[in-house]
Amino acid sequence: MFSLGFDNTYARDLPGFYVPWKPAAVPSPRLLYLNGPLAAELGLDAAALQSGDGAALFAGNLVPEGAEPLAQAYAGHQFGGFSPQLGDGRALLLGELIDTHGQRRDIGLKGSGRTPFSRGGDGKAAVGPMLREVIIGEAMHALGIPTTRALAVAATGESVYREAALPGAVLTRVAASHLRVGTFQYFAARGELERLRQLAEYTIARHDPQLLGAPDRYLLLLRAVARRQATLIAQWMNVGFIHGVMNTDNMTISGETIDYGPCAFMEAVDPEAVFSSIDHGGRYAYANQPQIARWNLARLAETLLPLMADGEDEAAVKTAVAQVTEVIDAFPDWYAAALLAGQRAKLGITAATVADDEVDTNLTADWLSLLHAQSVDHTLAWRRLADAAGGDDAGLRALFSDTTAVQAWLARWQQRLALDTPGPGPDRAARMRRVNPLIIPRNHLVEEALNAASNDGDLGPFQRLLAAVQRPWDDAPEPTAYAQPAPAAVTACYRTFCGT
Ligand code: AMP
Ligand code: MG
Repeated sequence: MFSLGFDNTYARDLPGFYVPWKPAAVPSPRLLYLNGPLAAELGLDAAALQSGDGAALFAGNLVPEGAEPLAQAYAGHQFGGFSPQLGDGRALLLGELIDTHGQRRDIGLKGSGRTPFSRGGDGKAAVGPMLREVIIGEAMHALGIPTTRALAVAATGESVYREAALPGAVLTRVAASHLRVGTFQYFAARGELERLRQLAEYTIARHDPQLLGAPDRYLLLLRAVARRQATLIAQWMNVGFIHGVMNTDNMTISGETIDYGPCAFMEAVDPEAVFSSIDHGGRYAYANQPQIARWNLARLAETLLPLMADGEDEAAVKTAVAQVTEVIDAFPDWYAAALLAGQRAKLGITAATVADDEVDTNLTADWLSLLHAQSVDHTLAWRRLADAAGGDDAGLRALFSDTTAVQAWLARWQQRLALDTPGPGPDRAARMRRVNPLIIPRNHLVEEALNAASNDGDLGPFQRLLAAVQRPWDDAPEPTAYAQPAPAAVTACYRTFCGT
């Protein structure tokens, strides 16, 4: 029997937080993708997994020894409305592995069939959206952004029915954990105080063990989660990533990005950019993401209050409310600091004092306004700015229809750079190219790759795009089609779909 060496704390320590469940058997498993480097990081034998057993395993037909598959319970605010029971409707946690760095990682399946949490859904997933998880997750990872990752995708040989019949697939996902804001909301909404406490203790032991036993550990947990989210969202914003469905059940406690459904990368700079077909009000638009993160953290804070103060004790409740409010109110500052640190690096600024904060914030804000005013591609503009730092601003100017304003801005930027101490290591342009990617997963190319795989069974475009996004900083060979934005008409109509 196949053994991966599981050690399952969630199953062992948190009975009552899940339903033990088995993946559905599928007719003909076939491995479409295996992440070799990630398998190695998990201490798994990639070559063995490539064999017939691997396909059966990753399609859910073979439950490996030591796995204790289970569907996790969670709740969540979806587009602002609270659902007290969501849970793993098409996913299962198989178990946990300790990776070669000593880190505990969840191994889960997505698309593995109906569970008691499926509500009206079929519990299934299609090839296209599961390959999207691979491409976007690996791109995020290569960009240095915390993310869950795809270990494998297996085709099932059966059809799933959406607007049309689509080839089915199962994704194997690796995560620091699948604990979400919504996990806390599930037990808080049910008034299950003891379980809530158990969950908080489990979370602290797993993600913030330095807080174990601290008298104010629940407050400190909130603070740690808020800090992780502040850095994460700042990283999203600095690469133009739009998650698309930042419901509280899609916000992790670990600070990893999770659930690549209706996500997209912004091309022409537009604070209001939305691609998700179900986000009619623009709740999860590009520029709203930091406020939404804060809103979600406030929902997490609410769940922790009953652990921090006895509800009967008015004074204690008041203190606890004041304490969590302080954290929620600090979030915008933490976010702004993380954003600015990232932006400084993108601008080529190596050293800054607090006195420079306003200058640099204004410099970046004006740069982004310029890009917005002329609908300039976010990724290429930053990348060409690196070339400009190296003395060649022709490529940058070519992105603007009217170069007068950018000329004035470049002069300001050069003045600012003149005050900057040259950092160690490679020169400024080279350093800037290490933080301003040339390659992001361009929406039209993602779509092309997924369509070829799904409609024609052709994995070539997927494999080539994946290889490209795994090397986001590469210069050569330029110009590459992978670096070019979609024609504006394509972007204007681009929509991504949820629940696929
Ligand atoms: P998501 O927006 O993809 O994070 O999913 C939100 C909720 O819907 C989760 O509880 C999922 O398990 C559930 N869900 C999404 N798609 C399906 C499906 N095809 N079958 C059953 N449940 C689903
Ligand atoms: Mg989800």
